[in-house]
Amino acid sequence: MAVTRTFSIIKPDATRRNLTGGVTKMLEEAGLRVVASKRIQMSQEQAEGFYAVHKERPFFGDLVSFMTSGPVVVQVLEGEDAVKRNRDVMGATNPADAAEGTIRKTFAESIEANSVHGSDSDENAAIEIAFFFKPEEIVG
Ligand code: GDP
Ligand code: MG
Repeated sequence: MAVTRTFSIIKPDATRRNLTGGVTKMLEEAGLRVVASKRIQMSQEQAEGFYAVHKERPFFGDLVSFMTSGPVVVQVLEGEDAVKRNRDVMGATNPADAAEGTIRKTFAESIEANSVHGSDSDENAAIEIAFFFKPEEIVG
């Protein structure tokens, strides 16, 4: 299995509850390595651009408000089959549907305030990494 990269966000509900370390520990225990990380306040323009794929969804406005409601930690994760590995440890979008032992089952507050984002394909991972990081900010 190839070592690949994915993009992760620790969302405002998690930073607000001081869970940056708790989430990161679960990512690391799942076999992922943090090769870039920064804590930022997303602007409305950044959040709208990042989630542009969802702009026709009814929850788009709420999602942008939530993602700009406090600091987030954007990360690049590296590991074997990183996209799938990360999606597996994240759990289902709705924490009510998430499996035991997943980040969202453990920490998420709601389908919206669900603690983490993770890329859903290698192609989107590359796009999302480039949205937030310069190549020199990633140290593998
Ligand atoms: P993900 O890939 O598992 O994060 O889920 P999606 O790509 O489908 O949705 C992106 C994000 O939008 C989710 O992580 C949630 O924060 C939010 N979201 C998804 N579905 C809903 C919904 O039905 N209502 C609300 N308020 N937010 C949602
Ligand atoms: Mg998604």
